[in-house]
Amino acid sequence: MTHDWKAIDAAVRVEPGKKSKLRARDCIGADLFPEREAAEEALKECAKAIDELQDRLWAERSRALLVILQGIDTSGKDGTVRGVFNKCGPLGVNVTAFGKPSEDELAHDYLWRVHMAVPKKGMIGVFNRSHYEDVLVVKVRGLAPAEAIEQRYAQINAFEKHLSENGVTLLKFMLHISKEEQRERLQARLDEPESNWKFNPSDLEDRKLWDEYQAAYETLLDRCSTAHAPWRVVPADKKWRRNAIIAAIVHGALEEMAPAYPRVDWRPSDFKVE
Ligand code: ADP
Repeated sequence: MTHDWKAIDAAVRVEPGKKSKLRARDCIGADLFPEREAAEEALKECAKAIDELQDRLWAERSRALLVILQGIDTSGKDGTVRGVFNKCGPLGVNVTAFGKPSEDELAHDYLWRVHMAVPKKGMIGVFNRSHYEDVLVVKVRGLAPAEAIEQRYAQINAFEKHLSENGVTLLKFMLHISKEEQRERLQARLDEPESNWKFNPSDLEDRKLWDEYQAAYETLLDRCSTAHAPWRVVPADKKWRRNAIIAAIVHGALEEMAPAYPRVDWRPSDFKVE
């Protein structure tokens, strides 16, 4: 590996207990993977290594990895899943997209559907949106009482602590794009016939609430970046750099987990395959 994942991680991490200063964070991240070619090379290497480590994780079957992707419309959540986990066998990675809650989901507490989707031991789980929508869209659009939302930050921290104490490593990424980049990506959905289907007029409504969403993101980053589950704010205006950064951190974190193939307590030479 030619990149220093720890340095990259330190640059994008929100230190627990400190202010995230979201508005001061740039969306380009030119110092992290300055060259596109090197970034694409690193992405390929990391994606392959993630697959190998996932195989060990499954063999070990005692821990899980949960990758949470959050970001405003067009920030590239789907593209990240495709770019970072495309070398992984489909048996080892579970992707869950959280949309508007169903009637049944709304009849439960907001963490119910989330807990059900937490990856089982041996798996990598990827959340495309998550319980953080319950302090984002729900807050910005006033879908729950303000006092109830206010209590959720501590509830989320407790929930994530519970998971981390029960064998789940959490990696939380906010894909940080600029307002101008979002304008271009939304426009592209209108201009390119193959992308028309991705356009949703409600995205324009949410775009009008850009400042409110940024404020809601800043609050959750300030309050829910914890020692057991810190947030990373990933510069995401450049798709290739976004993927390289996230793959480097997922790979680094998996290496630190150091999953190992179990040792058997019998000798293979005692058996003969006829
Ligand atoms: P995406 O935009 O992620 O590609 P969708 O078009 O299905 O996928 O959008 C999902 C929608 O569901 C988003 O508008 C999001 O704000 C909304 N959503 C997700 N979680 C919740 C929630 N807990 N309460 C209300 N709306 C939610």
